[in-house]
Amino acid sequence: MLSKTARDELEKQHYRIVGDHSAVKTCGWTKKMLKGEGGCYKLKFYGIMSHQCMQMTTSISCANRCTFCWRGYKAPVSKEWKWQVNDPEMIFEESKKAHEKLLLGYGGNAKVTKSMYTQSKDIKHVALSLTGEPIIYPRMNELIGMFNRDGISTFLVTNAQYAEQIRDLKPITQLYISVDAPNKELLKQVDVPLFPDYWERLNQSLDYMRQKKQRTCIRLTCIRGINMVEPENYAALIERGNPDFLEVKAYMFVGASRERLSMDNMPSHADVLAFTKQLTKYLPDYEIVSEHKPSRVFMLAKKKFKRNGKWFTWIDFPKYHELALQGDDFTTEDYLKVTPKTGIDDSEIKVDEKTEELEFWKAQENQVTI
Ligand code: SF4
Repeated sequence: MLSKTARDELEKQHYRIVGDHSAVKTCGWTKKMLKGEGGCYKLKFYGIMSHQCMQMTTSISCANRCTFCWRGYKAPVSKEWKWQVNDPEMIFEESKKAHEKLLLGYGGNAKVTKSMYTQSKDIKHVALSLTGEPIIYPRMNELIGMFNRDGISTFLVTNAQYAEQIRDLKPITQLYISVDAPNKELLKQVDVPLFPDYWERLNQSLDYMRQKKQRTCIRLTCIRGINMVEPENYAALIERGNPDFLEVKAYMFVGASRERLSMDNMPSHADVLAFTKQLTKYLPDYEIVSEHKPSRVFMLAKKKFKRNGKWFTWIDFPKYHELALQGDDFTTEDYLKVTPKTGIDDSEIKVDEKTEELEFWKAQENQVTI
C-alpha cells in the first residue's frame, strides 16, 4: 500500500507501520500521563486512562483531504479499498507489540514511576483514529471482536464517507462522527472530499448513527473564520445523528495544516465556548457538561444522563466488556458511570491562552488525537 519513501517518512515521524495498511503511534497524552503531567480530555470526560491507551489506524488512506488535518497532500487517498487485506489477528498482535516497543524508553525515564510504566503495558483502550479512515478496513468487526474479548475499549472516529460500514459495525465502546461544516458547500471547502456525493454520505451516516444502541458522539472541529457559522444548521445535523455526546473542539495549528490555514484560524478556548453556547440554543436536549482547556474542547451530553444533579458520562468498562461479549442487545445506559469532575470555568478563560497549550501541540508535530 505504501511506497518505501512514504513508509520511511512515517517511520521518521515515529509511526510504526503494521502490515500493509495499519499504523501505531504513541499519543502525546499517553506520554504526558506517564510522566504525571495529566491525561487527555477523554480521561476527564469519559474515564479513558491515557497511559493505557493505544493510538492506531487500520487504514492509512482516507477519502478526504481535510484542510485542518495535519496530513500533507501526499498522504494516500482513495475512495475504495485497493490493498491486500491483512489478517486482523496479525494487526491486533503486531500493533500491541509496536505500541509497547515505542514506550520502552519510558521505563528508564526519571519522571515515570515504575507502577505507571507497568500499567502502560496493560493496554485498556484503543483509539482507532490516528490517521486515514480506519472504518474502511474490511475485517474491522473481527478486530473489534478481539479488542472486546481482551477487555480493550474501542473509540472509533470516522469522517462519515462510508455509511454502510457504520451501519454494519458491531458494538464498540464509543462511535464518533466528525461533522466539519454546517452545509454542503462549506463541507466541500473544509473536507475536500473525493466522493462527489459526500453530503449525502454524511447524512446517510448520521441516519445510521441514530440507529446505534451503544454510545455515540459527534465532534465539531472549529476553525475560526471558516466553519464557526450557522449553528442552527449544525444543530439540524446533530439532531439527525442524535448522538449521546457532543464535542466542540478547536482546530490546532499544527502539521501540514499550517500550509493551508493560518494561526488566526485557531480559535481560543473562549471562542469555542462562545460558539458552543450558540449551538446549545438550538439543541434543547443537550447541556454543557465539562471542558478541557489544553485541548480547547467542550463536552455536551443529552440531559437524560444527568440524574439527581449528577452527570453520568464516564464509562463502566468492565460492564461494557461483559455486555459486548454477550451480543449487541445493550445500550449506552447499561454502562455509564458518574463523572467525577464537571462544570466549566468561564472566569478563567478570558485570556487568550496562546502559549503553553500550543507549545504542547507543536511538540506533538503530526500528532492528531481523537
Ligand atoms: S489517543 Fe485519544 S483517547 Fe488515547 S490518550 Fe490520546 S487523546 Fe486520549
